[in-house]
Amino acid sequence: MLEAPWDSATLRHSFDPAMKNDVSQGTQVTGRLAFWSATVCAVAMLAVLVAGCGTSARRSSDPLFSFLQLNDTHVLAGTDRKGYEKANEKARWLVEAVASGGYFARPDFVVGTGDLIYGERIEALGPDLRLFNEMLRPWNVPFHPVVGNHEVIQQEGSRKHEQAYRETFGDDRVNYTFTHGGVLFIALNNSGACCVSPAVVKARNDWLRRELERAPGVPKIILCHIPLIPLREEAVLAKSFGFRSYMDRDGETLKIVEAHADSVIAVLSGHLHLTGVVQRKNIFHVSIAGTASFPCDYAFYSVFPDRIEVTVRQLPAKLVTPRTNIHGKPRYREDFVDGNHKTPWQYVAGRADERAFTIPLRSRIATHTTRKEP
Ligand SMILES: [Zn+2]
Repeated sequence: MLEAPWDSATLRHSFDPAMKNDVSQGTQVTGRLAFWSATVCAVAMLAVLVAGCGTSARRSSDPLFSFLQLNDTHVLAGTDRKGYEKANEKARWLVEAVASGGYFARPDFVVGTGDLIYGERIEALGPDLRLFNEMLRPWNVPFHPVVGNHEVIQQEGSRKHEQAYRETFGDDRVNYTFTHGGVLFIALNNSGACCVSPAVVKARNDWLRRELERAPGVPKIILCHIPLIPLREEAVLAKSFGFRSYMDRDGETLKIVEAHADSVIAVLSGHLHLTGVVQRKNIFHVSIAGTASFPCDYAFYSVFPDRIEVTVRQLPAKLVTPRTNIHGKPRYREDFVDGNHKTPWQYVAGRADERAFTIPLRSRIATHTTRKEP
């Protein structure tokens, strides 16, 4: 079930079918003169094509920038808790894959959309986060973390519970923004999902509204741990996930985002331990399963002037652990399907068009800039 290597996508774009057709047509001409005339013409045309396409093909095939999404790695320090099978080993592999550049093109940065650690107990948050941060050392690309429920034990807005996260990643990495290549990334802490006070939810929404309003017309991608909409048929998802937090239960957060549907490209999340994408009001809601549990996914985003190409990949087979599937056996007696996902594999990993898809930009984001920022 391994996806095709990411490099195949690159090849697909750099391959120029027009050039191949011109050469093959030239060889079909019969007669000596005609053959040489055609050959000379073909060579000349080829030279023009190479000269002309050399730059334009490169322009269309090279992304402005790329980034990798990891989430739900559930790294765990010590041996006193039972975490996900091979969770640390999986996270280490992904870090080394990014660092080496041997498995996919080196991304410009990495986003970590929450549940980077296992946590569960407040005294474990510091050690788990420190271990995760140590794992990142081989990287020489920026890392932008997002608060997940496991980083703060569901206690969104609690300084006490955020302390280890702030000490590890920085005091300004709870709700924050950054810009890359003209796209504004908004990292939103919605780790409380369903179980925090109205005051905490209001603070979250006030901050989000302010950040969205501050940059009218600027293309935006929102990073948050908990999806804002259900990524499967809601009744089925509620059952297979088994927790009320299968989506952000505060409808206001979604309303605020959708009020800016003219500039919000996508909402990238994790938490569900399944991979899926749903388009709603022109916004792509993308949730990636993460590495700790089956299907052990991460995602690669290539941003072009007119589109974003998204490729979801599984870890190598030796690190894919079917027993960690939380949406089927052995957690349940049965596997799950829904109306749009006819097999258990599709239900947990998404259909083929949820594992490789394109988010178009040109028609919707008139102000998108091709400037590459430092
Ligand atoms: Zn979570």
